[in-house]
Amino acid sequence: MCACGPCCPGKPNTKKIRIGGQDIGISGFDEIIAKGLELINSSDDDQRNALLAELKVHNYIPGPVEKEYLNAVWEEFKQARAKRLGQVEESYHGISREEIPWYPRVDSEKCNGCGSCVEFCQKKVYVLDDKAVVANPYRCVVSCTGCLIKCPEGALSFPSMVELRDVMKELRKKYGIL
Ligand code: SF4
Ligand code: SF4
Repeated sequence: MCACGPCCPGKPNTKKIRIGGQDIGISGFDEIIAKGLELINSSDDDQRNALLAELKVHNYIPGPVEKEYLNAVWEEFKQARAKRLGQVEESYHGISREEIPWYPRVDSEKCNGCGSCVEFCQKKVYVLDDKAVVANPYRCVVSCTGCLIKCPEGALSFPSMVELRDVMKELRKKYGIL
């Protein structure tokens, strides 16, 4: 499903996204993302408002969980926005970047919010919200661990190179890439 371009007529347009620990189908997903992208040069608040309005056109969202739904859609939108802005690699060795689970994890128990990782990463993978948050995981350069040594608390971790190698092997097999 394309989330960063015009919708494809006739194709199903529901996407399951993780909300409150469950995979929930969002109807009109492409249209929702497209509404946000129409405002790509506007503020985050404007984009969020546009997403919410369109989300409610296609889905019934009970008031108490509205913010939770919007936040989940916002995460999806940010990836589409980054692609549109050319801030992420679309693929790595012929495989969609979003299929490759390579990005840092922050142990929030250990993180002291110093911001060293945020400052160091030129790809803007992190944002600081009291503690470091991995806001744009797929901007992380596959196999880079540059920020790891910047953390004074040992709060960052990455998959091992062996795990990366195994995932890549499986993906290459899946897509018939030799
Ligand atoms: S590994 Fe590299 S690209 Fe990824 S978050 Fe750290 S500094 Fe940024
Ligand atoms: S460098 Fe480590 S302690 Fe500092 S904000 Fe990043 S994860 Fe947290």
